[in-house]
Amino acid sequence: MSKKLLLYIWTSLFAIGLSQIVFGQDQRVLREAERITGDRFTVSVKTPKGANVYAVSKPSATVLNAIDMGLTDLFAVARKNKYYNRLNYSDYSVYIANADRLKDSQGQYSPDIAIGAAQYAGSVYDQGGYIYAAGMVIANDPCSFVIAEHTKNFERVSNVVRYEGEHLVLYHNDRRRYEATKDHSKGGGHPILQ
Ligand SMILES: [Zn+2]
Repeated sequence: MSKKLLLYIWTSLFAIGLSQIVFGQDQRVLREAERITGDRFTVSVKTPKGANVYAVSKPSATVLNAIDMGLTDLFAVARKNKYYNRLNYSDYSVYIANADRLKDSQGQYSPDIAIGAAQYAGSVYDQGGYIYAAGMVIANDPCSFVIAEHTKNFERVSNVVRYEGEHLVLYHNDRRRYEATKDHSKGGGHPILQ
């Protein structure tokens, strides 16, 4: 066998191995998102600014722009706080799940996802074994969170993206502040960064 061919085989095997690592990481987060929501994320797209989006159905351009806007606001307020890690759009993966409810207890349009209560059991958030949340972090690394599908009130999408993103920016920039603010059952909400 020629040296050239050996080199080619070796390089190809290396490339396959590398892609499996990248793919494997996404697969792990994807499985976690599917476990939490009970949904299948069959659509994979990028926002105009390069954030990764996995969705139950094809998101509109308006939704993709709303995600970018939320990340833009997040990055601006992060820099204001002198946090500079993970401020690229491509660092973020947003999962768009089916909404488990469309209105909140006041009757306002509020697409949310139901999540097993765990640490929220017995708190004001507890709805009997699960809670409704606008969004939830799925993985700190790679930065991934889930939101519910919206058909209107897209400013809310931007807000939820900014708010869930706050936990991830804090995780990668200020671990102590992250620990102090990650669990809302002990009080505190969003925005965290001013
Ligand atoms: Zn939060």
